[in-house]
Amino acid sequence: MEWDELQRAMVVFAHPDDAEFGSAGTIAKLARDGKEVVYVVVTDGSKGSSDVNIISEQLILTRQQEQREAGRVLGVNQVEFLGFPDGMLEPSMEVRKAITASIRKHKPDLVISQSPLRDLSLGVFVQHPDHLAAAEATFAAVYPCARDRMTFPELLAQGLEPHAVHELWVVGTAQPDHFIDITDTLETKVEALLAHESQVGERVKEMIPQRAKSLGEPHAMEYAEGFRRIQIP
Ligand SMILES: [Zn+2]
Repeated sequence: MEWDELQRAMVVFAHPDDAEFGSAGTIAKLARDGKEVVYVVVTDGSKGSSDVNIISEQLILTRQQEQREAGRVLGVNQVEFLGFPDGMLEPSMEVRKAITASIRKHKPDLVISQSPLRDLSLGVFVQHPDHLAAAEATFAAVYPCARDRMTFPELLAQGLEPHAVHELWVVGTAQPDHFIDITDTLETKVEALLAHESQVGERVKEMIPQRAKSLGEPHAMEYAEGFRRIQIP
């Protein structure tokens, strides 16, 4: 699908802030161009703190608030929290079904996902087990579960009709083949990341432009984000 044809996008990711690190420049650009963007946050983010004074319940609420604020900065239309426990995610049938339900409900043309693959050339942070699990469940939800009528009949009974996604863009891969120019939305990306006050420090102001520059340079873009693009016929 060409950019102009895309009407609806969904970003599925394990933790509050993952979407912003990987793809906030692209998300801001989608929203700015009038596309509907929905976030699906798979875990509750309840383990993301080393502060001894904070309890998980409080952290969950803080991170939901931060995620909504980051979404607001980017122009995201809706944020859904699936609420699976942080740090414990498996690509179970339950997770797959929950993501399938979100896809059938919002009918995205494009789904942006993390990578389900271990890649020994990459660092450990990008390969958090929750990222791998969320991505594996997302791939399975995109194809075949959201598309196939007879999978999860209980969803059909709730009025969630089958839906075929046309494109899957994968972030956090060492083999990106699709680059989006985010020169116009780089500042918005940084601003959205800074909304995650409990997670992200001022360091992103340097780190994000550096990374976007190195991705963009070989493709004649000042700043870019990179994806592995999978088109679904
Ligand atoms: Zn994460």
